[in-house]
Amino acid sequence: MKESFVLCSSCFSNQGLKISAQKLGTKSNTSCKGCNESKGYKLTKSILNDLAHQFFVMGSSIKSDYGGAPRIQFNEHQETSIICTDDINQDIKLFEKYLGVGFFHYGPRLWTLGYITPLEELQDENKRMYIIKRIINEYPIFELNSSKVFYRLRVEPSEPSNIGEYDSSPFPGKGRLDSKDFKVFYASQDLEVCIHECRVSVTDELYVATVRPAKSLKMLDLSTSISEQCTEFESLNISLVMLFYAGKHSYEILRLLSLEAYEKGFDGIIFPSFFTQARLGKLPLPSIYQSLDNRIDEFREIEISGKIPNIAIFGQPIEDKRVEVVSINKLVLNRVVYDYFFGPADVN
Ligand SMILES: [Zn+2]
Repeated sequence: MKESFVLCSSCFSNQGLKISAQKLGTKSNTSCKGCNESKGYKLTKSILNDLAHQFFVMGSSIKSDYGGAPRIQFNEHQETSIICTDDINQDIKLFEKYLGVGFFHYGPRLWTLGYITPLEELQDENKRMYIIKRIINEYPIFELNSSKVFYRLRVEPSEPSNIGEYDSSPFPGKGRLDSKDFKVFYASQDLEVCIHECRVSVTDELYVATVRPAKSLKMLDLSTSISEQCTEFESLNISLVMLFYAGKHSYEILRLLSLEAYEKGFDGIIFPSFFTQARLGKLPLPSIYQSLDNRIDEFREIEISGKIPNIAIFGQPIEDKRVEVVSINKLVLNRVVYDYFFGPADVN
């Protein structure tokens, strides 16, 4: 039986909820049972449930130093005990009426906020080297050979046709894996990842070098997951994902990891990209961290997209002739698209 419409986007008071309801709803000229208007996008009970999850659960997610979790949950067993802005409080009554649910403050499982033993040990100067060594020993080696081409983007190089412009930055120490006196060449098989990682704007003059290894390069593959027999609270996989998705405060740990991989004879590191996840609609938020099984599937990025998200090669591989430049092109940004959804501005 076809599910009937219970209300429409015009029934809502909050602008974010109205727009989200338009995006999720169905266009139909029938008049709404809720507000009597006919031009709103109509929602069935199950779409209304999706809207509640997107707006209140996903939309209330907050990031901690490592990881993140929603502040709100809802179910059929609890009465509403949160207070939002007036318009949202008004709209909550609609969800209560049609879904029979209540909204409440959510106490997340602590590991989703980064309380994971290996991750905590990585933040402890006295314990971090042990975990770094474990990571290097336990994650697989990926042989990057000349059959793989990848891209290196430069913003406003002074001599765009000079291949030397595309080597590692001569001023290391600002990125995730490079440090003072330790240069790292960053590239990706996914041009959109390059564009995103370089934080380019539409007014920038962009150039891209297509490169490939001149010989087989021994890479430490941290974009995949290893098989683990432990709880989320001890997981090295989740620790690494959270580490790579964290902000600048994670760099001192990642730089040590990078130096140690170099000492152990690796040519570089392959690592996950926040942007790939965001583009595939898989933000590194609770829905991904929720289950260990899902996470393992979702973080096999190379298998999903067929493209290696982020490649970091130690030293100056173009000058050392470990990497050769195949082509150089000017890159023109034509269109930039953002996807988004809404959440409440505040919750009490
Ligand atoms: Zn309506």
